Amino acid sequence: MRGVVFPGNRRAEVRDFADPQPGPGEVVVRMKASGLCGSDLHLYRQTAEQRAGNDTIPGHEPSGIVEALGKGVTRVQVGDRVSVYHYRGCGHCKQCLAGNIMWCPERRGYGGPIHGADADLLLTDERNCLPLPDELSFAHGALMACAAGTAYSSMRKLQVSGQDTVAVFGQGPVGLCGMLMAKAMGGRVIGIDPIAERRALSLQLGADEAIDPGEIDVRDAIHDLTDGEGADLAFETSGSAGGQNGAVNSLRLGGKAVFVGFGAREKTLNPSQFIGRQLTLMGSFVIPIYMYWDMVKLVLERQIPLEQMVTHRFSIEEAPEAFALFDQGKTGKAISQWDQDTYRRGCRP
Ligand SMILES: [Zn+2]
Ligand SMILES: [Zn+2]
Repeated sequence: MRGVVFPGNRRAEVRDFADPQPGPGEVVVRMKASGLCGSDLHLYRQTAEQRAGNDTIPGHEPSGIVEALGKGVTRVQVGDRVSVYHYRGCGHCKQCLAGNIMWCPERRGYGGPIHGADADLLLTDERNCLPLPDELSFAHGALMACAAGTAYSSMRKLQVSGQDTVAVFGQGPVGLCGMLMAKAMGGRVIGIDPIAERRALSLQLGADEAIDPGEIDVRDAIHDLTDGEGADLAFETSGSAGGQNGAVNSLRLGGKAVFVGFGAREKTLNPSQFIGRQLTLMGSFVIPIYMYWDMVKLVLERQIPLEQMVTHRFSIEEAPEAFALFDQGKTGKAISQWDQDTYRRGCRP
């Protein structure tokens, strides 16, 4: 099979790998869509020295069709359309049984340390195969494996309602998913991003307001839009010091914020920013596997147009160009795809 590798210094290459063979309880999935994610860029931007000898295939947003079954696999069948949960766990510890596979002491994440989804075939466990309803495309499946899942789990923590103004910091794929879900839950959403293309896409997909933090003071702008009170809720996806401070400072008294963006090197928040105002600040990381069906229900019943944020589609052979473009931060969601025809909504394999 073909698979992508990152040799270092912002390069991607396509190489040949042996096809994975499913062991007991394992499943091989033929990829149909694999999302490019901001977290892939942390690996892509490493130096050649940092990457030395590392030919692990990246990609943790897999979606495709079940190709082969190992011994003992009974629930999943060859030909099933699936989204793949992106951490493999032991399946038996306290965290796995609670659905928090990302906290399993034996967890293995796609793209590091195990081969990921930017390849023709992906090896996974039966329990990781999440059935993809026929109404949802493989692009939806890829988005729900990471960006949409991260956003959904965060919106559940924020408990968005029709009375809330939600400030979403960063309008990349995770921020856009959060914006769409907060809208579907009834919220009024303000999108914040310094990149004009991302603000335009956010407004086009349904954000009520879009703010450029390079132009105006975000705290003041959000207070102006909320009768001087501040946002009820904030979702921080940028990982920047400006976004993290903006999210806290823009909240109303007693407001709540969820943080999912990594990246800021400097110390950004001081407790004096949230003690007196009694803010609730939470971290969130991917999504527990038990929330999958609840997310599917929201996406289907509220017709959330996740796929409309996909602005760029590439074949796996185009990985060098795809990652170079994605690295500039000006795309919406970018995905690798196989067989263009299967991308129409409701299309069966
Ligand atoms: Zn991701
Ligand atoms: Zn476990």
